[in-house]
Amino acid sequence: MKITLISPYSDITAYGVRNISAFVKKEGFDAQMLFMSDKEFDSKAKSGSIYQYDEDILRQVTELCADSDLIGISLFTCHFDRAVQLTKYIKHSLKVPVMWGGIHPTIKPEESLNYCDIVCLAEGEEAVAELLHKMKNKESYFNTKNLCFKKDGNIIKNPIRNIKEDLDTFPFPDYSTENHKILDNALKKFIPLDKAAYERFFFSDPLSRKPAYMTMTTRGCPHKCSYCMSFRGMYEGQKYLRRRSPKHIIEELITIKKNFDFIEGIMISDDSFFVMPARDMKEFSELYKEKITLPFRCLGSPSTITEEKLSYLVDAGLYEMQMGIETASEQTKKLYNRHTSNDIVLGAAQIINKFNAKLVAIYDVILDNPYETKENIIETLEFLLKVPRPFHLQFFSLIFFPGTELYSRAKKDGIITDEGRDVYRKQFQFIQVRYLNLMFYLFNYGVPNSIIKFLLNKHMVSIFERESMNRVLSGLVSLIKAFKRTLRKK
Ligand code: SF4
Repeated sequence: MKITLISPYSDITAYGVRNISAFVKKEGFDAQMLFMSDKEFDSKAKSGSIYQYDEDILRQVTELCADSDLIGISLFTCHFDRAVQLTKYIKHSLKVPVMWGGIHPTIKPEESLNYCDIVCLAEGEEAVAELLHKMKNKESYFNTKNLCFKKDGNIIKNPIRNIKEDLDTFPFPDYSTENHKILDNALKKFIPLDKAAYERFFFSDPLSRKPAYMTMTTRGCPHKCSYCMSFRGMYEGQKYLRRRSPKHIIEELITIKKNFDFIEGIMISDDSFFVMPARDMKEFSELYKEKITLPFRCLGSPSTITEEKLSYLVDAGLYEMQMGIETASEQTKKLYNRHTSNDIVLGAAQIINKFNAKLVAIYDVILDNPYETKENIIETLEFLLKVPRPFHLQFFSLIFFPGTELYSRAKKDGIITDEGRDVYRKQFQFIQVRYLNLMFYLFNYGVPNSIIKFLLNKHMVSIFERESMNRVLSGLVSLIKAFKRTLRKK
């Protein structure tokens, strides 16, 4: 029995796909992963652009899948167009069931079943393994927990199995260098994902641009942000937030470091890393310092960051610390269901700043929220003026993801008029050009607070924060970008 798992994500970390591959291999099945990232499109395409695979690439996919018994495609909302094209082409050419998994199909199983045969809901390792066992034994699989099917025009939606609490029992993500392929967009063909290919395509740290291994230490999250797509709703009443033990995380990193000696850093990418109690953080840091030694980056939510935990991590090699501020406007925080007070956020930033000799602070901010007034945005900018420098801001254009509280509200309020343009094909990295948004960028250029304060005075805002000024500002931004590109070439 063989499963092919396809990842359209722009980053080849594809945690879910690798976890499923590792799990089913442990259960005795063959697994092949196909990585189809297109960084060029993902970083440059304008919102609303429709992704289009070349027919020759779709043909190569079907050839690679021809000996599979099951094909899985993992997707997020922005990969919907790609998953539809892949599925249609595969189903036209092969008689192999196609299963979709990931957060989007979990939230929208009925929509997904218009294209695929099976939807895997929520955490899928055990469900996929059970499905393969049943297929192998030629048993009916329509009652498999976590799976949805379309049969004779009806949808069968099975219940979700209990959440797996002990994360240490899962195998490490599959980073083997055999059997897997990656699409080389320059050659327009799949090549073996061997060590050399990993070296070319590995995730690179956004600031240092050095190859870094990305991992997660938890599953779940203690928060309930209204814009976040998550599996939380599937596991009501169960222990949704779970942690791996420090030893388990370190074992994974030792294996990776041994196999991929080109890695120059580690990125711990879960929002919940800092829920680890101080005692475990100390153990993790000591082991990391002794056995891993690579510089690393992590995320933390403001209410969980403490000086004690951070001091252990910095001593172990933490060099970048990312924290979600998102907004400082009280009204917007209510809308986002984020209730951490500005004092707590500021306190966390002050703690991070104490380590600024060794630590780069990166704070996330959400922009382009149609519910925000100018005053709400200025509230966040004024809050940032109090945050100790230096720091780097990362911006995210708000997307109303399906299934979220905010999506329902935006839909009801008539803000989403075209699902394709406003949701499925909206790119979070493209920030609207307007005066107040540009003010955020000034922090990244080290512009002194006194100048930002001056630019935020009500006369400046009333002159420049006008619809008619946006085109002028867009022209200016394009000029600056072109100038920077020329400088880089020189
Ligand atoms: S903190 Fe991050 S993962 Fe948790 S609910 Fe908010 S956006 Fe989602």
